[in-house]
Amino acid sequence: SAVTFDVVVVGAGPAGSAAALELARQGHRVALVERGAFPGAKNVYGGVIYGRILDELIPNWWEEAPIERWVTRRQTMLMTPTQSLTVDFRTENWGKPPYNGATAHRAKFDAWLASKAEEAGAELITSTVVTGLLTENGRVVGVRTDRPEGDFKAQIVIACDGVNSFLAKQAGMYPDGQVHHTTLGVKETLALPRETIEERFGVSGTDGVDIELVGGTRGIAGGGFLYTNLDSISVGVVLSLTELGKAKVRPEELIADLKRHPAIAPLVKGGELIEYAAHLIPEGGYKTMPKLTGDGILVTGDAAAMCLAAGIWLEGVNFAIGSGMYAGRAAAEALSNNTTDLSGYERRLHESFVLADHRKLKGAPELLLGDRVQNKYPAMICDLVENLFQVTNPEPKPGLRKLLRRGTKQHGIRLRDLAKDAITGFRA
Ligand code: FAD
Repeated sequence: SAVTFDVVVVGAGPAGSAAALELARQGHRVALVERGAFPGAKNVYGGVIYGRILDELIPNWWEEAPIERWVTRRQTMLMTPTQSLTVDFRTENWGKPPYNGATAHRAKFDAWLASKAEEAGAELITSTVVTGLLTENGRVVGVRTDRPEGDFKAQIVIACDGVNSFLAKQAGMYPDGQVHHTTLGVKETLALPRETIEERFGVSGTDGVDIELVGGTRGIAGGGFLYTNLDSISVGVVLSLTELGKAKVRPEELIADLKRHPAIAPLVKGGELIEYAAHLIPEGGYKTMPKLTGDGILVTGDAAAMCLAAGIWLEGVNFAIGSGMYAGRAAAEALSNNTTDLSGYERRLHESFVLADHRKLKGAPELLLGDRVQNKYPAMICDLVENLFQVTNPEPKPGLRKLLRRGTKQHGIRLRDLAKDAITGFRA
């Protein structure tokens, strides 16, 4: 006979652990089911967690979370094969509580967050794959697992099983049964001594750097990143799957390109490869989200395409924690009121950053992954700056207007498109 819980949460990534933590705290019997040997064992990301949503869940979380470095320096680098232009921002404010971004290893971070749910009373069940949903008259009433004792029954199931969620698909949450718009993220972790990282990246103590790269992916829509951990760095690319397929190039060749680039080579020199990982990313944002609430089921995090990702900008862990937390609260509310009404989930999402940010940035993926931002602007801007700084004696200096006209013409950019993109970019 099936084991019975109030709620079964599938997947112990950040979304699942946040949901289970909320429910357990409110005294409900909750199972947190994870296919990996431990939470985080199978999870891959670039490297920066925006932890502020944790303020609400675990006060002073920064005193105990397994953080590598606090991001106090953030760079955006436009690149062509021979040029680079960097906007370099640093602030001491992000290096003290309540902080902004932090680098962390997911194997440690996810395990820590799941341990908080366990401490609160959730039952963490690892090495267990959920293989399907149990339904009765169209209502979700539990899950099937590959465990010998079989199925788990529950009043509510929360799907936190990540990108390409097979639970959300099975529950009919994706209109045509398909998840659209995913990109492929691939990264290498390179070991480097702590002092070397601090010298090369100009930081000390536990301060760290986040570098986002545009234009270094051989014309394939996407972007690159370079993050500092305590004694390693992560370097990787995020790539459009369709374009990658057409270009017939392997992702590791693109990472090799980046590591050879004159602006990146000195930063990664001597780094010893300790990990290589790849994972899909839901990239379409608001326009591609599935139905979030079904009969007896809620969908959160990457399973609901709640990742704010546009090649060079990746926020997913915070949306996963936020949506998981709100799903947990809505489920607890329904259980306490003895109702099957789960509408509190979407209300909370709409009232919070989760859907507000996604709505605001719904045009960003198209803009940032479009040909102009990916290919034409980096080259045009790098050329413009090169010409601006170049001393042209005995020719007189060209004016900025002339350079701009020459640049847009040379790179095939219409001023109308430039203005349109500037407005969309400004809005986003
Ligand atoms: P996941 O973290 O994917 O967790 C899902 C969990 O469910 C996993 O533990 C999995 O093992 C488990 N699971 C799945 N199916 C089953 C099943 N059938 N039965 C049992 N368990 C199951 N986000 C950021 O905030 N910052 C970044 O710098 C960043 N960089 C990224 C770089 C790359 C290369 C990639 C791929 C992603 C990046 N992201 C980043 C996005 C971020 O990783 C995700 O948005 C986030 O992990 C989503 O959390 P989640 O809990 O929804 O899903």
